[in-house]
Parts: sequence; structure tokens; C-alpha cells
Amino acid sequence: MLHIGCHLSVSQGFLHMGKEALSIGADTFQFFTRNPRGGSVRKLDVEDMQALNVFMKEHQFAPILAHAPYTLNGCSKTARTRQFAREAMAEDLRRLEYVDHCRYNFHPGSHVGQGPEKGIELIADMLNTAMFPGQKTKVLLETMAGKGSEIGRNFEEIAAIIDKTVYNDTIGVCLDTCHVFDGGYDIVNHLDDVVERFDSIIGLDRLQAIHINDSKNELGSHKDRHEKIGEGHIGLEAFTAIVRHPAFRNLPFYLETPNDLQGYAHEIAVLRAAGER
Ligand code: FE
Ligand code: FE
Ligand code: ZN
Repeated sequence: MLHIGCHLSVSQGFLHMGKEALSIGADTFQFFTRNPRGGSVRKLDVEDMQALNVFMKEHQFAPILAHAPYTLNGCSKTARTRQFAREAMAEDLRRLEYVDHCRYNFHPGSHVGQGPEKGIELIADMLNTAMFPGQKTKVLLETMAGKGSEIGRNFEEIAAIIDKTVYNDTIGVCLDTCHVFDGGYDIVNHLDDVVERFDSIIGLDRLQAIHINDSKNELGSHKDRHEKIGEGHIGLEAFTAIVRHPAFRNLPFYLETPNDLQGYAHEIAVLRAAGER
């Protein structure tokens, strides 16, 4: 069975998200650990997190995905922004230990003119500071579209960060279909080649999650504008091949398409059917 869910709001708590996911045919979900454009965080509610653990077990959920805020930039030019990134990630990771099956996804960062090499070094430093021995939650680097000075625009940059990390066994990758397509990887016509490149540069054993989004823009556009499944330049045929691909089919998929709950329920049904065909 395909493991699939969508992005949900954490505003009514963890158990609420679990119930919401179940109600739309999902068996997982993603949420922001804090205000995505600010960085403020909710009050810690351990009981609510434990209630979600019970619920997830009861309904055989796949691991959920916690997404760091967009404001988290560990390779910023500004020392204060780098400091916020380290502290926010460290706090997020401590809190997520209360969830039994959870992964933590973040955008590697934007080097803002310092160059990718310096950026890669700073991101690895952040991971080495924020992560801790014995951590349960895997930290996933998201593949990026290459907008502006984003790090993670290609598999080589992701691999270079992983190479410099101390808690290497606890690091993985989340592949975003819109981002890699915008980054120039042709998952529409050459999916097998892209999978092979990922495997040779990063290693498929690192791949822990898929963000499944169509793109408003063409291959290599570096724009990062998500579209509904089947309504963009990737298209339903390519998504059918993606959900059925042996390298992906057992991974959890998370929709980040422009939708309300009903729209997500529809896309989940469409992709489940595509996966089983
Ligand atoms: Fe993201
Ligand atoms: Fe994404
Ligand atoms: Zn995106």
C-alpha cells in the first residue's frame, strides 16, 4: 500500500492532525514545527504528542514529517540568523523525540553571496551543533529548485553536506519532485536516469521521503512554484511512474500542492489508484 499524506496545520495539535489525515484517506502527514515565516513555536504539549503516538500505531501510520520553518537559514551571512537556525533546529529536535515515528526535513539554506562551498560548510556546522548522540529523529535535507542562492540545487551539494556531518547515520534526504524538476532533473522522460544519478551521488539508502508536487514551470526553471498533481509540467503519467517506481514505492509521500482538505483527499485517492494500477 502507498504511504501518502499532505501538509497539515499544527494549530489544533498533534492528535488533531492524525485524525484529519485519517479522514482524507492519508496514513501520514507533514506539519511545520513553527511559524514558517516567523519562527515562533507552540507551547510543548507532551500528552498530545503521546496521544498521536497511540493513534498512529492503532491506524498503522507511516512516519510523519516535521518541516522546519523557511526562516531557518544555517548559512546566512548574518550571524544572528545563523544562531537562530542552530537554536531552533536544536529545540525542534529535542521536542520531536516525544514522537515515536518522525523525521525532520529542512531546506539546506541560502548562501546569499558567500558561495556554495562556504554555505555547505556552515550547514554541516549547524547540523553538528544541533544534533545529538542517540537522537531518534532522522534529519532530512530537502532537494531544492535552485532559486536565488539556494544550496541543495543538485545532488552533489546535498552529498557534500552529508560528507561533513558527524551524526552521519541519522541524516537522510527528502526528494521534492517539483524542486528536482525545476532544478533540471528530467523525472518526466528520464526517471530511471535521475534515480541512478541519485544513487551514485548520494545513495538510495539515504532517501527517506518524497514531497510529491507538480510544477507550474518548465524543466530547469529554478522557480519553485508548486502545482496540483496533473495540472503542471510534470503531469499524472510521470507521477504514476514515480509512485510505482521500485526506488520510491515504499517511501512516504507528502503532498504540498495548493489545495484545501477536499483537494488533498482527491489527490490522495488519485495517487493511490495510480500506485495500484
Ligand atoms: Fe520544503
Ligand atoms: Fe518540498
Ligand atoms: Zn517548494
